[in-house]
Amino acid sequence: MLAISVKNLNVSYHGDEAVKDISFSLETGNLVGVIGPNGAGKSTLLKALLNLIPKDKGDIQIFDHAIRDIRKKIAYVPQRSEIDWDFPITVIDAVLIGTYPNLRLFQRPGKQEKAWAYQCLEKVGMTEFSNRQIGELSGGQQQRVFLARALAQKPDMYFLDEPFVGVDLGSEETIIQILKEMRNSGKTVVVVHHDLMKASTYFNKLILMNRELIGFGSVEEVFRPDLLAKAYKGHFAFMEQLGVSV
Ligand code: ADP
Ligand code: MG
Repeated sequence: MLAISVKNLNVSYHGDEAVKDISFSLETGNLVGVIGPNGAGKSTLLKALLNLIPKDKGDIQIFDHAIRDIRKKIAYVPQRSEIDWDFPITVIDAVLIGTYPNLRLFQRPGKQEKAWAYQCLEKVGMTEFSNRQIGELSGGQQQRVFLARALAQKPDMYFLDEPFVGVDLGSEETIIQILKEMRNSGKTVVVVHHDLMKASTYFNKLILMNRELIGFGSVEEVFRPDLLAKAYKGHFAFMEQLGVSV
């Protein structure tokens, strides 16, 4: 069974193509990095895969299904900048929301769900903050809580958009270890990530894009100077960081 199958996906905003003719198939049990410069359409690709924004054309199947039929199997952690951190909710309640998709209609989370939510908080090392407001946490702590919420959903696929931006090193380590563990247990994890320095050690597969798909495959296949230069053309700082001449 394929985790994701995308054929000829196009997405545009007001007539401008943000994602252009993207096709790829991904097996389950991969930890995939979506890389490409700012404005490359990485977040747009994720949102289109999740059917959160309309596509112009293309065919998307997740686990051989239309996304609407298996939404609860998929957890999504948006970019931190897209979350309203002033929303008055405690850490434990934010994690509990992760259990909702698996509840029956009108069922409230009970003892079992609460115990599971605490277990998920423990996994990300945030138990002692359970009664804090989410707005009172550091960036790394917030990202851990949102990972705990994703874990609470018991999904088969995770989508995370730039989970390491504004996050301390310790949190980054914790998060990538958990994502690797999920991958090793057969889950599919897709992470938008713009820091090329870590890309080759964090992920076992890469999607390199700049509107169009520039590379897809193993790290060895994609993390090549020619492909990176094609994607990051004009983004000189990135290329210098890597020691690649443009
Ligand atoms: P990335 O995540 O790789 O930085 P995005 O997917 O956010 O890129 O954006 C791709 C392009 O689409 C950019 O040019 C961006 O300005 C544009 N874009 C993104 N979201 C919107 C939106 N809601 N309305 C109009 N244009 C958008
Ligand atoms: Mg983005």
